[in-house]
Amino acid sequence: METQSFLGVNIQELKHTISNWNEKEIHAKAIFNSIYKEGSPSFSNIKNISESLSEKLNNFFHLRTPKVIKTQISKDDQTIKFLMGLDDHTQVETVLVPFHKKYTVCISSQVSCAMKCSFCYTGTQGLTRHLKAHEIVGQYLHAYRYLKENFPEKSAVPNIVFMGQGEPLHNFDEVKKAIEILRTTEGLYLGPRQITLSTASYLPGIKRFKELENINFALSFHSPFNSERKRLIPLNQAYPLEDIIRELQSLPLLKRQYLTFEYLVIKDLNHSKEHVLEIKSLLKDLPVIFNLIPFNPFPSSEFKRPDLKEVELFARELEGQGFHVMIRTTKGDDILAACGQLNTN
Ligand code: SAH
Repeated sequence: METQSFLGVNIQELKHTISNWNEKEIHAKAIFNSIYKEGSPSFSNIKNISESLSEKLNNFFHLRTPKVIKTQISKDDQTIKFLMGLDDHTQVETVLVPFHKKYTVCISSQVSCAMKCSFCYTGTQGLTRHLKAHEIVGQYLHAYRYLKENFPEKSAVPNIVFMGQGEPLHNFDEVKKAIEILRTTEGLYLGPRQITLSTASYLPGIKRFKELENINFALSFHSPFNSERKRLIPLNQAYPLEDIIRELQSLPLLKRQYLTFEYLVIKDLNHSKEHVLEIKSLLKDLPVIFNLIPFNPFPSSEFKRPDLKEVELFARELEGQGFHVMIRTTKGDDILAACGQLNTN
């Protein structure tokens, strides 16, 4: 019998499976703990479960993470990029981004992407397929084990951002399931604030966002003008900003939780005073933190990267309108691991 990936099974499903084997459901906790928290590579040495149960697990499930084809480490800042091979020979990239004293794992949710944003290298490829929950959890688990082995001092359960290849809300059910598995109390137990999902503004998914229970929400905003935004993000044609913002106004937020608005700053395009004023009138009192991302060039890109001074000026003007603003420093662009540079063709 072909085995199924354990990494796509949530704890309820595991309980169900083992009770069908006439074993006690309660063992599911020890199994999750051993595989996820302790990072055990097999079912054979789980404490307090019988040999017959570990044998059944072994016959039914496998624990493979995607196969690592290449690992690159950026010289500038220790950003680490993994090229991952999936069972059908498609590939995705997973990036470990240094952030303060920890790493954050940047995860892919699809093989390539359907959104075709004009500034994004991934979008030049067109969608190949959605990832399964086990392929998403597998990327995380590989990164987690890699840190444990190579950077034990930075190996605490890393935060996760859905900012790799793909539009996570376009693959809602599998992303939701992967998040459930990563948050399981007996497993990795990631807290809601340790998980951030970024969307190009896929409205059907934003309408379901509350199902993900309070994880951080990030929107790729990039322009307050629909006419300009739809040139950057074709999805804006179907879902204009007013509809997105109306939906965001009803998102339940935790105390002091903000919505992150990522803003790609493109030289001479979208950082004028008119942009600042329009942003203010559009967003009014929405609790937003801006995350300014200087455009990262890639082979054949039509846009230019702004000078840091221009980005800082834009930041000050937004702050002048009462917004919180951060500037995202570029990480790992010497190995094409920065935002929008992931491409596996
Ligand atoms: N599909 C999701 C998540 C992936 S992209 C989304 O669109 O939000 C993560 C972030 O990188 C997005 O804000 C995206 O707009 C940004 N990005 C894409 N291409 C970029 C580039 N060339 N330079 C800088 N940021 C880029």
